[in-house]
Amino acid sequence: MDTALISNEIKTIKSMSALSTDIHFVFYQPNFECTFDRAHNFISDMENKLSVFRPKSMVSKLNRYGSYIPVKVCPDVYNLIKKSLEYSKFSEGYFDITIKRLMDLWKEAKQKNQMPSKEEIELALTFSGSENVQLLQNYKVKLKNKAKLDFGAIAKGFIADKIREIFEQEGINSAIVDLGGHILTVGKKRNESLWKVGIRHPFKTRENIVGFLELGSTSVVTSASYERYFTIDAKTLSHIINPKTGFPAEDDIASITVVDTNSTFADAVSTALFAMGLKKAINFIQSKKTIEAVVVTSFREIYITPALAQRFTLCDSSFRVIKTNEVIVL
Ligand code: ADP
Ligand code: MG
Repeated sequence: MDTALISNEIKTIKSMSALSTDIHFVFYQPNFECTFDRAHNFISDMENKLSVFRPKSMVSKLNRYGSYIPVKVCPDVYNLIKKSLEYSKFSEGYFDITIKRLMDLWKEAKQKNQMPSKEEIELALTFSGSENVQLLQNYKVKLKNKAKLDFGAIAKGFIADKIREIFEQEGINSAIVDLGGHILTVGKKRNESLWKVGIRHPFKTRENIVGFLELGSTSVVTSASYERYFTIDAKTLSHIINPKTGFPAEDDIASITVVDTNSTFADAVSTALFAMGLKKAINFIQSKKTIEAVVVTSFREIYITPALAQRFTLCDSSFRVIKTNEVIVL
């Protein structure tokens, strides 16, 4: 446990490793032990259920048997699938939990260091699409057409929303949680000031920011090309797949950050916008008035929705800030 005395008030950092990342809880108040334990247990439990890397997880079992028989899942996983289908519809299919077959294909391609063939991609695409997931009564789920599920783009958001619930139940009202690039802010900092959340600089090392947002209780979720990527034949490819083409997303977006009190929504939408590529993403943000986002492009531009623009401070003047309501992106 790491404690530091700041402005005569104790801040405590508690950390754990899970969900393939380091997770940090920063509490600006005492009596957080029980809360941390509950959150810790919840994260471990959800990882056991949702991980596609664990053969005994609920999702791995669903992927193995779900095409043949209805599989009963727990209420949390059932609700997560329900939300995923909702966000898939909202994002016009760009967020897609049936992406697993395509992920497997690209993983294999990476291992062989050889691009998949057109036929292989077309075949994997025929096994994808939310219409292949059926929610039945009694928490049962059936998969059609050999579809397989992957919650990599939404699990952290879902977990973050549950952590907020745990915090509310336990009376925690001044804390911040970092789930590996997925930030949850709770209440105000030391109950008085807004939180400053940095947007990472796309061309510099981890500690550098291109700007920061000043926010109250919310969540800040980023999908970025520099976070996780792979290479085939020396070509850099994104870990986010465009479900319309079956290919990794274009590289014109360096990072996309969505701010919303609903972390699950923010997680799904940030991935969907990344998968769309720059033009479509900006048009989509403009058409849906409900998304608050910061899009950092590979060409030193920052597209930002008007409400967030008021809360944003630029730290690198070589970037141009553009309000999404003031441009037409053709
Ligand atoms: P991160 O894992 O960096 O937080 P994301 O939330 O954007 O990033 O999720 C990326 C993961 O989601 C990928 O590793 C993969 O498992 C899955 N995925 C990739 N493309 C899509 C997509 N279009 N829709 C839903 N999930 C996706
Ligand atoms: Mg996501």
